[in-house]
Amino acid sequence: MNTTMYRDPANPLAVRKEADDHWTDLSECRGSDPEIFYPITEFGPARDQVAEAKRVCYRCAVAAECLDWALRAGEPAGIWGGTTPEERRYLRR
Ligand code: SF4
Repeated sequence: MNTTMYRDPANPLAVRKEADDHWTDLSECRGSDPEIFYPITEFGPARDQVAEAKRVCYRCAVAAECLDWALRAGEPAGIWGGTTPEERRYLRR
């Protein structure tokens, strides 16, 4: 299987190595402000950030793939597949 180093669309500072034809090629968050996907908290004013990120995810054609990846990877931070870290912890249980 061929692999490619690519930048995570929700976190331009992160570089990941994944198989070619990756679902991130179709991600809705490409070009979005990455900060909205990494709120400091899920409460208070950051709730607006979370809501903004989720609105992007709800339009995303690869949200299911994104959520699946985040659950399998145990992604501890950020909005992935329209879910917060707390929501993913709940889904993993
Ligand atoms: S579901 Fe959200 S975080 Fe995941 S690729 Fe789509 S827009 Fe980006």
